[in-house]
Amino acid sequence: MSEKGNGSPSLYFDYNATTPLDERVLQGMAPFFSPKFHNPSSSYRAAAATFHAVEEARRRVAALIGARAGEIVFTSGGTEADNLALFGTVRLRAGHGGHIVTSAIEHSAVLRAVQQLQTEGFSATFLSVDGGGRIDPDDLRRAIRPDTILISLMSANNEIGTIQPVPELARVARERRVPFHSDAVQAVGKVPLDVRDLGIDLLALSGHKIYGPKGSGALWVRGGVRLQPLLFGGGQERGLRSGTENVPAIVGLGLAAELASAEMNGEGPRLSGLRERLRRGILERIPGTAANGPEGRDALPNTLNISFRDADGGALLAYLDQRGFALSAGSACSAKSTKPSHVLTAIGLDEERARSSLRISLGRFSDEAGVDSLLEALVDSVAAVRGQPPSWR
Ligand code: PLP
Repeated sequence: MSEKGNGSPSLYFDYNATTPLDERVLQGMAPFFSPKFHNPSSSYRAAAATFHAVEEARRRVAALIGARAGEIVFTSGGTEADNLALFGTVRLRAGHGGHIVTSAIEHSAVLRAVQQLQTEGFSATFLSVDGGGRIDPDDLRRAIRPDTILISLMSANNEIGTIQPVPELARVARERRVPFHSDAVQAVGKVPLDVRDLGIDLLALSGHKIYGPKGSGALWVRGGVRLQPLLFGGGQERGLRSGTENVPAIVGLGLAAELASAEMNGEGPRLSGLRERLRRGILERIPGTAANGPEGRDALPNTLNISFRDADGGALLAYLDQRGFALSAGSACSAKSTKPSHVLTAIGLDEERARSSLRISLGRFSDEAGVDSLLEALVDSVAAVRGQPPSWR
């Protein structure tokens, strides 16, 4: 195995799983481990620095999504933000009904939470998507019932990059006066997004997808929207998330948000250029390949999902890993799953094709040289693996 390649930023193609911590973010976090360790709720002067740092981070995160600082609730990540949105809304609104609408291609942070709510007596509709992964607003309109108490639809998909028509979907929700949550973990920092234009009520984001620290995230809660907390205790975060704040992580999330605000507009076109270079190269050089998911403006600029006919995805990944390339077949949390991707099956791929697909996601340290070397490695690995009996049979 080439130790040289492993861990090299230019051979990393799994930014949708996580991003490297930006050096500037790390520098900014360091003082909040030591010496600025104080509890932001303490009343002496030394604690004012940590209190103000948390509030500054809140302002920075709010600015990234067009929100007001007071609407940001810091959490331990995207999963907790999604869970707070879902459980927090339906438990409070249980008296109004018990039906939830979501989609078949949500991340497990939403899917598993909804399944848990089903075991607690709530019912759910999982909207299907078209071949590009898009949810049809008319399907949402038809799915809403008089007892629907929450709609949760993601802003962008982590496996195939589909950007949902959230403003149209939210308009349907508003017509029917149903609260709307969006898991925007993959959209925030990659595409411009303003919660006022989206017309939604709740939005989840995560620090480690935007070059911030793991274990940081936030739920945006539109002013006036009420939730029941998941955690009870000291009443931090306006009573919505008790527990002493993880100040270094929050500071890091704030800095990452500020960098994303400043750099996103240049980064989007750069990444979509690299992605197109790679997509064209793969489709031209490797026979029996097909791109999965959306095209053009409906797609995240950094995400590419490709099927390699007669080549087992797991074997391809292992071959590429040996050469130092890090990428994945789908979401990181299902990387060890034995099932084909629920997203690829939802867009109509058969099991064979779903299992011969790879997700390539680009980011801040991706460049032309890296993309070109991945293409060469793919040409070799597909030739080596093709025709071997798949491991999953
Ligand atoms: N939602 C989506 C769409 C994601 O891609 C992820 C992470 O993979 C999450 C939620 C979970 O976020 P976190 O890892 O911060 O808990």
